Amino acid sequence: MKKISLLSLLLLVNAVAVLAADEADTASGQGSGKMINMGTVLFIVGIIVFVIVVRKLYDLRNKKGSVSNETKSVQNKDNIYEPRFWYQCKNCKVTIRKDSPPKNADCFKAVDHIWTQLAEVGRTKYLCKSCNTLIEARTVPVSENCPDAPMHNWERLG
Ligand SMILES: [Zn+2]
Ligand SMILES: [Zn+2]
Repeated sequence: MKKISLLSLLLLVNAVAVLAADEADTASGQGSGKMINMGTVLFIVGIIVFVIVVRKLYDLRNKKGSVSNETKSVQNKDNIYEPRFWYQCKNCKVTIRKDSPPKNADCFKAVDHIWTQLAEVGRTKYLCKSCNTLIEARTVPVSENCPDAPMHNWERLG
């Protein structure tokens, strides 16, 4: 929106400059010289406004660029093993990847979530035959706190 309004302002200034120049052409005698000067002045003002607008847009783009560069570098830093751990709630069966345990409040199957750190994130798929949880872990996930059985029954899928 800002870009459009600035550009339209620029166009307006240029249009005024062109109109002034046209008037100068049709005007007769000594007056025409003054009118041409008016047109020239307006044209120069147009160029100045144009430079200001371009610089502002350039700055804005640079700011945006630096932000996207930051997010890019963050993404580059993240490897596929981050967040590092699998957590599962024994009550609601939600399984998520995080670096630290999620908060306990507001489990939708019980008052609180009961989180268990299942395993470190890795490349091997493990499926619990009791609760159907499928995760990619570095080592065999822990057995405790299966939502659907006394113990998880992990099967290595490869
Ligand atoms: Zn829960
Ligand atoms: Zn299970």
